[in-house]
Amino acid sequence: MINTDTEITSITGADDTVAPSTTSVTDTAPSATITFADFGLDPKIQKAVLEQGYTIPTPIQAQSIPHVLAGRDLMGAAQTGTGKTAAFVLPIIQQILRHASNSASPARHPIRALVLTPTRELAVQVAENAASYSKHTDLRAAVVYGGVDMKEQVGILRNGVEILIATPGRLLDHIGSKVANLSQVEILVLDEADRMLDMGFLPDLQRIINLIPAQRQTLLFSATFSPEIKKLAQSYLRTPVTVEVARQNAAADTVKQVVHMVASADKQSAIVRVLEERTRKGLSRQCIIFTNSRLGCARLSRALERDGIKAGAIHGDKSQGERTLTLDAFKSGAIEALVATDVAARGLDIPDMPCVINHELPYNAEDFIHRIGRTGRAGSTGDAIALVDASEKRLLDDIEKLMKRKLDIKPLPEGTPSQGRTPSSSHSSTRSSPSSAPAKMSDPFFYKPYEPSAAPHATEGAKPEEKKVGITPAKPTVGALLGGFKKK
Ligand code: AMP
Repeated sequence: MINTDTEITSITGADDTVAPSTTSVTDTAPSATITFADFGLDPKIQKAVLEQGYTIPTPIQAQSIPHVLAGRDLMGAAQTGTGKTAAFVLPIIQQILRHASNSASPARHPIRALVLTPTRELAVQVAENAASYSKHTDLRAAVVYGGVDMKEQVGILRNGVEILIATPGRLLDHIGSKVANLSQVEILVLDEADRMLDMGFLPDLQRIINLIPAQRQTLLFSATFSPEIKKLAQSYLRTPVTVEVARQNAAADTVKQVVHMVASADKQSAIVRVLEERTRKGLSRQCIIFTNSRLGCARLSRALERDGIKAGAIHGDKSQGERTLTLDAFKSGAIEALVATDVAARGLDIPDMPCVINHELPYNAEDFIHRIGRTGRAGSTGDAIALVDASEKRLLDDIEKLMKRKLDIKPLPEGTPSQGRTPSSSHSSTRSSPSSAPAKMSDPFFYKPYEPSAAPHATEGAKPEEKKVGITPAKPTVGALLGGFKKK
């Protein structure tokens, strides 16, 4: 569940950097009185929404759904956690419901809506949503992503599916082996488009989009409106409506952020101190600890375990099976510290996460927002603690600039290891010094541009880029998804 009071920061249709002829919709401010019934969704969809327990649409839903229903292209500035999945999935179901058929013939179930996501975790989450919201209809939804054997996915695709959620590389494999055909796609969604670009998906996106009829509706969701995203929007969207909701970092009242200046060598013991302090205060010790590298992530997890903290690592070198097991252990409380790379920064909906610790700051300020967005979700409160050493000053500057606010620098709890500098030596005094901050890097774990596999039906784990993330789904929900997972 989510806080439906998220602020709409702007809604505009006249951003000429996006599309010169976009229509203005400035008079559609969110109304507290809007309910799901007001959208005129089919009763089968409304029933599913009710069963989810949603009563009031979130701002992104309130603002987007009417436009999607009206057939408009849409550019949404929203990230995971704002309710954006339902903002596009619900109207998509409505739009293609006229095609629903209980015929067993695959020909009656062509792909009508395609959702592309950058990560398999997000793909699975979107697919779970699509399955829930469409469960009272005859529409079929499925997910395909790399790192697992293709056979099962091939069977599902051959049977026919109207709503397909996919990561680009695996979709291209299915297209290459003529199992997926996009010629009847009516609606295309690019989810977390900024992330897809960061991860080098553009050539794949281009290939896929070339296979979709030009006469289509396109919805693009992105956390940022960088020049690259605007260019993407310009080339793929026709007179889009733009909807923007407040970033998660704007939810300052639910996420309490603090910076501790800590020398790099002391960060591990600083985490121990932080957790001890939480125990003393009677706060939950459950936390996600973000690191920048797979190696650092694995090392930190082992080191924390040696310090008596129940820790588990989740990063791109772990198989999907391992990642799922670790995540489940974390959700059940068997693990209290989930040490993660940015592989876990997006797309995972972990409810009521009390604390996020940045063991180091990410190279990309946007990622900081995604990381801390793991806490304070759905209206609950959370702590976001950043351990920063002197070499990270420029990264801290970038983050503060992006968030348009200074972060509180506080000393570590008593008895802590040596600090990089005291809070009184405000980081602003050193922030302009030339820093050794690394250049912006994209997530190195996930992806290389698509190359058709020699044997498309072979396990994608055999492909070099997939080896790193080869998966064997272990979690029942994921297994169910792969198994065709319709109607939950
Ligand atoms: P999303 O941004 O799509 O990842 O959604 C974040 C969380 O909000 C998910 O757990 C959804 O189930 C939940 N959610 C979506 N829409 C609503 C709504 N209208 N009311 C309450 N919770 C919602």
